Amino acid sequence: MPENGFSAETFFGDGGGLTYSDFILLPGHISFSANEVDLETNLTKNLRIKRPIVSSPMDTVTESKMAIYLALLGGIGIIHYNNSIEEQAKEVKLVKRFENGFITDPVTLSPENTISDVDKIKKTYGFSGIPITEDGTLKTRLIGIVTRRDIDFEVDRTKKLREVMVTGLVTADAGISLAEGNKILKESKKGKLPLVDKEGRLATLMSRTDLLKNEDFPFASKNKEKQLLVGAAISTRDEDKDRLKELVDAGADVIVIDASQGDSIYQHNMIKYIKSNYPDIEVVGGNVVTAKQCKSLIDKGVDALRIGMGSGSICITQNAMAVGRAQGSAVYHCAKVAREYAGIPVIADGGIANIGYIVKALSLGSSTVMLGAMLAGTSEAPGDYYYEGGTRLKKYRGMASLEAMEKGGDKRYYADEDKIKIAQGVSGTVVDKGSVSHFGEYIIKSLLHAMQNLGYKTIKELHNGLYDGTLSFEARSPTAQGEGAIHDLHSYTSPDTALFYPPDRKKGVIF
Ligand code: GDP
Ligand code: 5GP
Repeated sequence: MPENGFSAETFFGDGGGLTYSDFILLPGHISFSANEVDLETNLTKNLRIKRPIVSSPMDTVTESKMAIYLALLGGIGIIHYNNSIEEQAKEVKLVKRFENGFITDPVTLSPENTISDVDKIKKTYGFSGIPITEDGTLKTRLIGIVTRRDIDFEVDRTKKLREVMVTGLVTADAGISLAEGNKILKESKKGKLPLVDKEGRLATLMSRTDLLKNEDFPFASKNKEKQLLVGAAISTRDEDKDRLKELVDAGADVIVIDASQGDSIYQHNMIKYIKSNYPDIEVVGGNVVTAKQCKSLIDKGVDALRIGMGSGSICITQNAMAVGRAQGSAVYHCAKVAREYAGIPVIADGGIANIGYIVKALSLGSSTVMLGAMLAGTSEAPGDYYYEGGTRLKKYRGMASLEAMEKGGDKRYYADEDKIKIAQGVSGTVVDKGSVSHFGEYIIKSLLHAMQNLGYKTIKELHNGLYDGTLSFEARSPTAQGEGAIHDLHSYTSPDTALFYPPDRKKGVIF
């Protein structure tokens, strides 16, 4: 069956692997404005996000900063695990604490704590508005609050909070609704609104900055408590059950089981373990590229699948291991089987080199795309910029590059016990793309226009077009591909040259 790959005999006489560059989509009819396009989509079976962009769990792509800004734009970030359990859980917490409606477990201190304790909280979590209770816990009465303004210019950081805290607070009853709380916050003109129970104990906290953030980012990906959504990756190793627990406790909304060849007994066991111990957590399985692999993970209970093997910009798997699949074929076959067999969405992961490829991945049935290289040069990606030959660059490396494996990334490739590490990825650089808040908006706006050109208002409609045959594909010869790229100019400027990799972008890579 084609969706499971061909036998050698059939293969050589018939189908072959196709990818994004090999085809073009034919335009549809425009009867609406680009702003009417709605990009809302399913990340997993039960988790919807407003924009189909996911950042890859790689140590040069996703930590809390990337995850925060992508979630604000309506996408989601998956925090990498090439770090200690504590470090990864901390990154998840930073995202969850970034924005709230009700802050249900506010950080509190006692009057006997010092200003330097507030400094420590500021360094870890990024805020310094700290309610003061009698004994520093939520069990005793609220007696004051310390905010930035009370301690900014204080030279003596050993001073007790008792001496600097503000008392006589505007508070509200713990039972009020979010809308009522927001109204009081606006009218009181205070930065924080503590909500207290009948005994005067702090129940929840509301923050004025959250009101403002809500207004700035109407598409933000959030849970019921108005916290930003975030995912986290783990390996299939048994020892990562401890990591899993900490990530769930930290508030991760989705767990991505990260493996280059996802159809393994190890992944089966991990899926079963998560599903029986944390039934509310959404699980993304992968990576897979055939219908058979998809069914194998679906049968164990995954809520979404991550598609791609060896197609990433930093990957050398297909050359080093002789396995993988052309990404267009992989996304098409896997998305189809995931939809028909279980009604679950797939994430097209790897090989997305420009915005057009995002549109093509969605057109092949994926519900979201996962980006590595495209986001790696933004200021929100981990790592510092440096100059090389006058160009501002950031490092971007495969998780199976020798460099990343030395730090622990080898678990994805079943190589952590090997003495000789076999690289399946390389280390490289990408150019500065500025802030993801601008670059991400640019991507999203482009997607709205692309959907308009195709004549579909939603991703659901696009998928219906794919499966009922009204979405039209046509093969592109190599010369047609050349024609579709910039050509025959002496020189040119583009909005962002990083968005338009030349067709031979693999040149200069090891294989
Ligand atoms: P602050 O004035 O220094 O506290 O900082 P802001 O009010 O400008 O920002 C605080 C941000 O952190 C808001 O988005 C809060 O929702 C979020 N946050 C999450 N957890 C807590 C918490 O326990 N205390 C405080 N103060 N803010 C929190
Ligand atoms: P990109 O968006 O850069 O084309 O691809 C990113 C994807 O490549 C990641 O989400 C992940 O699936 C895959 N990947 C990350 N590191 C490596 C690696 O070292 N080797 C291989 N084969 N794939 C990798």
